[in-house]
Amino acid sequence: MDKIKMTTPLVEMDGDEMTRILWEMIKDELLLPFIDLKTEYYDLGLKYRDETDDKVTIDSAEATKKYGVAVKCATITPNAARVSEYNLKEMWKSPNGTIRAALDGTVFRAPIQVKGIDPCVKNWEKPITLARHAYGDVYKNTEIKVPGAGKAELVFTGEDGTEIRRTIHEFTGSGVIQGIHNTDKSIESFARACFNYALDTKQDLWFATKDTISKVYDHNFKDIFEDIFEREYKDKFESAGIEYFYTLIDDAVARVMKAEGGFIWACKNYDGDVMSDMVSSACGSLAMMTSVLVSPDGVYEYEAAHGTVQRHYYKHLAGEETSTNSVATIFAWTGALRKRGELDGLKELQEFADKLEKATIETIESGKMTKDLANITSLKDVTALNSEDFIKAIRENLEKML
Ligand code: NAP
Ligand code: MG
Repeated sequence: MDKIKMTTPLVEMDGDEMTRILWEMIKDELLLPFIDLKTEYYDLGLKYRDETDDKVTIDSAEATKKYGVAVKCATITPNAARVSEYNLKEMWKSPNGTIRAALDGTVFRAPIQVKGIDPCVKNWEKPITLARHAYGDVYKNTEIKVPGAGKAELVFTGEDGTEIRRTIHEFTGSGVIQGIHNTDKSIESFARACFNYALDTKQDLWFATKDTISKVYDHNFKDIFEDIFEREYKDKFESAGIEYFYTLIDDAVARVMKAEGGFIWACKNYDGDVMSDMVSSACGSLAMMTSVLVSPDGVYEYEAAHGTVQRHYYKHLAGEETSTNSVATIFAWTGALRKRGELDGLKELQEFADKLEKATIETIESGKMTKDLANITSLKDVTALNSEDFIKAIRENLEKML
């Protein structure tokens, strides 16, 4: 069989620990035998980030803007322990944070549903897609540990020197303060990304904040969504037969628990961070979720929603067998390949992505899966496979389909 051709390279961002091991296995077993894989490779492994003073992360984000589609492996966000473990020059920033700031996008996360892995929430019949704003708020904060009594103020100085000043708190003793921000431009692109994604996937869109308490900050999000919806999307939603509605975040949480799924839930940055972990865990495993960052200028970065699975990596290094679920990382590749195929008009590449996803799901539904799923499945006659054998089982299925 001739290998499938590509025209434009994918931006490939390699990563760390166990996911780096899976990355290579996925390429060797599931991609390279079938595709004439074209990628522009960036090593975001912590060692190389440190060697390049993190320039490689910025370069990879720039390349993503240039080519339009990237696929990213999970990476370590350094903390104090990592600084000594890797003997780092600095506690480098989160690569995801750097890339999101550069692309200013919205992250869409949806559970990968398979028969036999049933959501804990019985009424969730269809996937719930989380749309997480990926810029600002607490992820770009400035904080002060207040040492003792004194006055904390919020001050804005305009370019012309005019000042807006508010008292935050008159401290009588020690405490903490935090300054956060967002920009109308970023919120507007978040809103458009959500409306477009809803139209693309023909699903209702819910948006929720805490505007009753945050009467300026959160209210601004609500107003911008409402305004853009009324002016640009109302008619399109009507013809598509889908709905947009706004509600309070606590009301949204209550409704989500009773809903049957099949909609997009747009969340501010922090809400999206925690709610996507809730939705994915309720659907079985962090490894059963897709994640894609969509920027306002139509740039896409696909990744797994989980981390580098450090505990498994140390077992792997000790020569022990691991059973790490590679589904989210496989779906990061298929998402990127399918998008590349769409943009370049390569039907074969799109079909390959569909088949690889189908082969992955069918492998699990036939009872072959990694331990995280084997522990919770309702299927009978299950074989728990190690990391490598699971990928090989998918390959067997894939070969039958091609
Ligand atoms: P993690 O890598 O997501 O793993 C947490 C636990 O979840 C694992 O110990 C494992 O549970 C389970 N798990 C996650 N993914 C799994 C998979 N594919 N297959 C099977 N089990 C899976 O989170 P972490 O241990 O808190 O973080 C490790 C590193 O990842 C950190 O350095 C962090 O900075 C980084 N991180 C990166 C990203 C990213 O790049 N997108 C996201 C989050 C965290 P058991 O141990 O019980 O098997
Ligand atoms: Mg998180």
